[in-house]
Amino acid sequence: MIVGAGFGGLFAARGLRGAAVDITLVDKHNYHLFQPLLYQVATAGLAPSDIAWPIRGILSRQKNVTVLLDEVRGVDTAKREVLTGTRSLHYDYLVLATGARHAYFGHHDWEPHAPGLKSIDDAVAIRQRVLMAFERAEMTDDEEERRRLLNFVVVGAGPTGVELAGTLAELAHYTLAADFRHIDSRSARVILVEAGSRVLPAMPERLSDYAVRALHRLGVEVRLEHAVTDCGPRGVMLGDEPLPTATILWAAGVSASRAGEWVGAATDNAGRVVVAGDLSVPGHAGIFAIGDTAAVRDSDGELVPGIAPAAKQQGRYLARLIRTRIEGRPDPGPFRYRHAGNLATIGRKAAVVDFPLLKLSGRLAWWLWGIAHIYFLIGMRSPILVALNWLRQYLTYGRGARLITFQDRDRNDAG
Ligand SMILES: Cc1cc2nc3c(=O)[nH]c(=O)nc-3n(C[C@H](O)[C@H](O)[C@H](O)COP(=O)(O)OP(=O)(O)OC[C@H]3O[C@@H](n4cnc5c(N)ncnc54)[C@H](O)[C@@H]3O)c2cc1C
Repeated sequence: MIVGAGFGGLFAARGLRGAAVDITLVDKHNYHLFQPLLYQVATAGLAPSDIAWPIRGILSRQKNVTVLLDEVRGVDTAKREVLTGTRSLHYDYLVLATGARHAYFGHHDWEPHAPGLKSIDDAVAIRQRVLMAFERAEMTDDEEERRRLLNFVVVGAGPTGVELAGTLAELAHYTLAADFRHIDSRSARVILVEAGSRVLPAMPERLSDYAVRALHRLGVEVRLEHAVTDCGPRGVMLGDEPLPTATILWAAGVSASRAGEWVGAATDNAGRVVVAGDLSVPGHAGIFAIGDTAAVRDSDGELVPGIAPAAKQQGRYLARLIRTRIEGRPDPGPFRYRHAGNLATIGRKAAVVDFPLLKLSGRLAWWLWGIAHIYFLIGMRSPILVALNWLRQYLTYGRGARLITFQDRDRNDAG
């Protein structure tokens, strides 16, 4: 039984191709999502179907997998059953690969005002919110309200925050520049707020400094060492300073899924299941946790980062481990993580690349980032179409997915 068809769960299932096992893969969505490009959907560059693929389609040729669309609510470890709202599903081995969710540092009431970006629904809702802010600014006669509507605040300057802020600035300053008659979309402010002292803190300082310069060039205001103290319908508070806005995007924190609670496992301060070297949950024979929902240490004792390659490697490893166990062969030894590097893009001309042997910034880094992402889309559907779409955007600043499809709901959301 594999719960979650993200990078970890999907690679575990694929790794068991041809093995003498019956796999049940349960996911609450019917699609596998390429999260690294979610910000492109949120900023109207790509359509949802460019970055998400039906799980059934991906696994249709793998006959030992049954896919179920259902939400897991708990696990009965004594009976070895996974519990959804409507049924109990027996397992011999259980792989928990349910990823992560947004964390608001205890301020759950901020979520409706400051949506985060984790799913297709989140991205489409953010796209609506952003586009509706421009529409409403075009219609209002109230100058103060217009300014508020044209302020866009992104909280958190990790890769997602930087990518969102850079692309929003391009949307406002280039893509929409000729589209409105009563507002100048180029007057929009995009403000990236970060409590820490630098952007992209997981990267070397030189690359963080470059990213700030690139953001400035795009017109993004970067506010470092400013912690958000409140989020509400009228805007955010940075200490005593109010920042009026109708669009707050939350990229400041994640915590693991509830999988640890389901099995009563020990978790770390981000809610991740603390697993053993073979990714098993201590005290629970046959239960494993991988990807963003697990706290995995590499051979140096360092925490493995919550990124896609790490989840894929864990999924592949676990498939090998289970295969050797059922075939009665010796275990492959503990999981070893191979860090390939980190990448982040800042708009359409700049990126930073932090590989173990190569640190790069600028246009070349952007092309590397693009090639890497196209490469990772291969094996899914239509990487060529996504590439062509990007090329068109790159040459024209066009963002073709600028559709508002549930206006009324969003009009309410945006206050
Ligand atoms: C906006 C964004 C940008 C990112 N950019 C990058 C990047 O550029 N590079 C990079 O390497 N990493 C990036 N990441 C991180 C990367 O996407 C994750 O590390 C990776 O997806 C983790 O894989 P996973 O399998 O653990 O979880 P996920 O891929 O999140 O998959 C979890 C799956 O579990 C399912 N699920 C959850 N709860 C339940 C339930 N109760 N019942 C049934 N199913 C459930 C979900 O529907 C989902 O399909 C980004 C993440 C985000 C959110």
